[in-house]
This record gives sequence, structure tokens and C-alpha cells, in this order.
Amino acid sequence: MAPPASKPAPASKAEVRKPAPGPAASQQNKRRSVAVAEVEKLKDNREKRRAQQAQVYEAQERMKTKDHGNPNWEFMNMIEEFKEDLEINPLQDGDPIANHQITVCIRKRPLSNKEVNKKEIDVITIPSRGGILVHEPKTKVDLTKYLENQNFRFDYAFDETSSNELVYKYTAKSLVESIFDGGMATCFAYGQTGSGKTHTMGGEFKGKSQDSTNGIYALAASDVFRMLKTPKHKAKNIVVSCSYFEIYGGKVFDLLSGKSKLRVLEDGKQQVQIVGLTETEVASVDDVLKLITSGNNLRTSGQTSANVNSSRSHAVFQIVLRVNTRRRPLHGKFSLIDLAGNERGADTNSANRQTRMEGAEINKSLLALKECIRALGRKGAHLPFRASKLTQVLRDSFIGERARTCMIAMINPCLSSCEHTLNTLR
Ligand code: ADP
Ligand code: MG
Repeated sequence: MAPPASKPAPASKAEVRKPAPGPAASQQNKRRSVAVAEVEKLKDNREKRRAQQAQVYEAQERMKTKDHGNPNWEFMNMIEEFKEDLEINPLQDGDPIANHQITVCIRKRPLSNKEVNKKEIDVITIPSRGGILVHEPKTKVDLTKYLENQNFRFDYAFDETSSNELVYKYTAKSLVESIFDGGMATCFAYGQTGSGKTHTMGGEFKGKSQDSTNGIYALAASDVFRMLKTPKHKAKNIVVSCSYFEIYGGKVFDLLSGKSKLRVLEDGKQQVQIVGLTETEVASVDDVLKLITSGNNLRTSGQTSANVNSSRSHAVFQIVLRVNTRRRPLHGKFSLIDLAGNERGADTNSANRQTRMEGAEINKSLLALKECIRALGRKGAHLPFRASKLTQVLRDSFIGERARTCMIAMINPCLSSCEHTLNTLR
């Protein structure tokens, strides 16, 4: 059986600028060779990802026979058969970028080698740029097996071959532009633990270390510095700074000052303030990367497994634009949030009291967030900010005409996560 059709790889022509004749030519040439190198790098990464995927497909092919002993081989074949009749037109780099006040997207990650070795099967198909299909395996009482194929629609759907750069381009990128126009923006990564939230926001994992240069935090920061230099924004006299904090169990911890615990206050005008939150001025992407790395180290310190700790807290990374005058008035703010795993609800009947409390707290905040985002869509609706610490501290990012929000729901493609996945999608 043929592997699913992979996307063609159009070399991004827009990024290669032609040199103009005249005295500026050598400058242009230099810029051009940088752009070419950039395109080469992207191409290289794309090829690496393809090769990795090919390996996974190969291993899956081997398991499609009964002999190999994959208990789900029948479902696997049924899914393949279903896909054969399906027209697959995933998002292509170059497709138009929508400009909504609220954007909701999903991103499917590939099966990992470990999952393939554990004989996991992939039950998710992304047939179009906004569609997602869940092939839910079912067994009748008479033990005949069948698939329940469920269809969902979103603003964008990113399949397993999508890079962080592509996801960024269709999600957070336009929000960066909006904060230069004086807006507030938020971008959330939502999904169960292990679905790819931190990979998307913080950057790709290479073994145990994380390459923070290709996460959405860094890609956004890099665009901020690029835009700062454009004639349109230069005159605005803007300075950039960053904050990074964690919300755990309803409490706020500063990741830029040794994880100190901070108080959240609301003044008479309903302005919410995190008292003493560090806001570090940054002058380059490198400065930002350093902050992210040191913050990440604090996030996971004292734990053997990074995931156990970080999956129970929300991490909020903020890029703040201020006008460079004595009082430094706020110009715009972008909050990027790596949410706690949404599966903890299942733990509410867990035997461990601590786990149960954490689960309840996470549920409460994710529910409050959902309510706030829903209310955003309706003009004049009541926004239940106070229902959780998370929504309370993000209050100023939600309100106002120019507030923009993007939610990226991460999907783990495994059969064993099917139920969680359906919950996430709903
Ligand atoms: P989460 O933060 O949601 O708990 P992680 O970002 O830590 O999940 O991802 C879990 C694992 O899956 C990591 O090992 C990561 O490298 C891998 N992973 C996640 N998303 C992708 C992706 N799009 N492509 C390849 N690997 C991914
Ligand atoms: Mg994580």
C-alpha cells in the first residue's frame, strides 16, 4: 500500500530577492545570499523530517501483517483503506493567511519511534487545510471491528509534516503585527501532555536538549526585532522587554527571578497587576533566547522528568512593547502560553490528594479560559476573568477592540490517546 501522499516542496520564492542593479547591488547580493542560505536550511530541515517520517511509515508497513503481531493490524488496514478514497489537500505554504480576531487551529504531531515500536497506530488524518478526521476504532458486541470516522473543522489544521515555522506563519505571526499597532495578543498551546505544546512554543527537542531558536517564542521575538527596524515602526520609538512566569496551583512564580512567588492584585479600576514581575529589556533575539533558556531551566529544576513538572503548570511568556519616554507607557503586549496538560481532569478521582487538587485547579483554569474565549466572540458578553488566576492575569490581553487570540490545539495521533484527542477537539 502506498504511504499517504506527501506535500510537494515548493522552494519559497518570495524569500529569494533579486538583486537590483546600481550602487546598492553588493548590499543586495549579500542579503540575497543570506536569504538563499535560509531557504537551503529550511529545505534541509524539511528533508530531514521527511526521512524521519519515511522511517516511521516503513516500520508501520512492516506491522500491517497479522504475522507481525500488532493487535491493531486490522484497524490499521481499515484506516489505510479509508484514506485511499480520500482526497488529501493539506495546507500549503503560500495559502492565504486569515486575519480573524480569534483563530483556532490544530496541530498533529507525528508518531514517535518509541510509539511505533510499542505498536501504536496513527488514527488521525488531516485531509484539508482546516479539516481533521479521527478514525475511532470500535468493536461491536459480536466482535466485528469497524471505524467511526469523525470530522472536525478549524481555521487551520497542520499535519505531521508541518514545521514550527509553518505553524508560526499561520498563527502567531499576524498577532506580532497587531501589537505594533497598539494591540494586545495571546497565543495558547493547548492539549494533553506529550502532544507537542512545548515543542511548538519553546522549540524542537534534540534528544534531551531543546533548540529554542525554532519555537514560537523565538520566532515571534525575531519578527518583533525585524519589524522594529522597518520605517513604518522606527519612528514609534519603541523598546522591547520580556517577562516569563509560571502559574501553578493558582499561584504565580517569576521564571526570570529564581522562581519567586508573586502576588496578583486588582486595583479599583479593575487593573490586574502581578506585583514585582520581572520585565527584562531585550535588544536582540539572542537576549530573548537567553531569557527563555534560563526560565526553562527553572521550570524543570528539581525534577527527574521535565514533563511531570511542567505538564501541571501554565507557562506565560510575554513580549512587551513600551514607548521609550520617561514613564514608558505600554504600546502593545503579546502573551504566549504553554498551557498545563488538559488530561488532568481524568485524575480527579485519583487516590493522591495533591494530584487531585492540581487536576481540579487545572480544570478550573482551562474551563475559565474556554468561557472567556467564548465570550470574546460575543460583543458585550460578561467575561468571567476572576474564575481563575490564569484568566485574571491575562485580563488586559483579552479586552479591548484590538485584542487578538490564537489557540493551537495539539493532537497526539496515537490510538491509545483517541479519547483524549476527541475531548481536545470538542
Ligand atoms: P507537551 O509539551 O505537550 O507535553 P512536548 O512538546 O514535550 O509535549 O512533546 C512530546 C514529545 O513529542 C517530545 O519528545 C517532542 O520532541 C515530540 N514532538 C512533539 N511535537 C512534535 C512534532 N511536531 N514533530 C516531531 N516531534 C514532536
Ligand atoms: Mg510541555
